[in-house]
Amino acid sequence: MSSRYDGRLLLLVAVGVAAFLATAATAADVPEEPAYDPEIAAMLEEIDGTELYRTTRDLQNFPTRAFGTDGNREAGGYLYRRLAEIPGLSVEFQGGDLRNVVATLPGSGNASDGVVVVGAHYDSTSSDPARAPGAADNGCGVAIVLELARVMSERSFDRTVEFAFWNAEEIGLVGSRRYVGAAADRESEILLYLNYDSACGEPGGPPVANVLYNKEAHEAAVLAAHHNTIYGINLTLTRKPGSHVSDHTPFWAAGYPAMMTHAPPQQSAHTPDDTIDRISFPYAVKNARLGLSVLAKAADAEGGIATRWTVLHTAPDWSRLFTIAGCDYPGTLAAGSPRLLQGPGLLMLPGVAVSTPPGSAAGVSYY
Ligand SMILES: [Zn+2]
Repeated sequence: MSSRYDGRLLLLVAVGVAAFLATAATAADVPEEPAYDPEIAAMLEEIDGTELYRTTRDLQNFPTRAFGTDGNREAGGYLYRRLAEIPGLSVEFQGGDLRNVVATLPGSGNASDGVVVVGAHYDSTSSDPARAPGAADNGCGVAIVLELARVMSERSFDRTVEFAFWNAEEIGLVGSRRYVGAAADRESEILLYLNYDSACGEPGGPPVANVLYNKEAHEAAVLAAHHNTIYGINLTLTRKPGSHVSDHTPFWAAGYPAMMTHAPPQQSAHTPDDTIDRISFPYAVKNARLGLSVLAKAADAEGGIATRWTVLHTAPDWSRLFTIAGCDYPGTLAAGSPRLLQGPGLLMLPGVAVSTPPGSAAGVSYY
């Protein structure tokens, strides 16, 4: 064997090792941050606060939308008509007497790629059964999902997107449970479920959104945190594990990725005072944009959502993004820290503070 051959072999090995190290560093240690996409930015601009107002107003004007009432039935019909007016969507009632209203925007790619679902419950409840305007809980969440349907249906996505209005959430998540049971039975691949419930904030209230997600939706939650910054949405994202049961819960139970962005709780929830004057539509627009930015990526076969991360992120480049205070990870993660950013029961988000209210048990927080 000539020395020249040896030299070339060594060079090849060295190049190969360098390439492997470069790949490993990129794929395992330094996840790619999402780039600003002008098409997504333009789409986010189309979210219209006056549309959110109109839908919320129409829904609160039913005296009640409690499950089993005439108002609930009429509200279901109203939402069916609103969705049917949007070109490109096919709409149906699902779940028999439950009357979930579900609209489908067919994907342009392979149907086996799975679906992306966004939903909100449309029933209401109140301390006075005859008066349950449910503007913040959850007329405004429904208004956001309807607005996402309007904006997304003007475009084409690789993956099928479903827009769902669940019924009977307030009596035990009945509508979403029925949907998830049927989806699991037919082994439907749901790549992401995004839930809107009490998602619109109060006038003058803090622009805080609590991000709830399961480990399967970690990638979507990280994407939301990045988009919040790069698209100038600027909600203050927090993570309060254990708070809020809503229609994302059945998706979690079935192992589907699901995420929800929840506004700070309002005193008027579940009372006759949950009216439209207690809603911040600028906040609602922000929350709609945040979800839309994530859905757009999830519905794009190249968007990366479907490729789940399998590594724990330890890169110094990322540590600057993490400010972690409170329960599970006290203190701030120092630049260069090798500490894992993923722990039992809690997955960290870049730029998201984990807060524990005074008096709550360490490790878990509720409000
Ligand atoms: Zn609710």
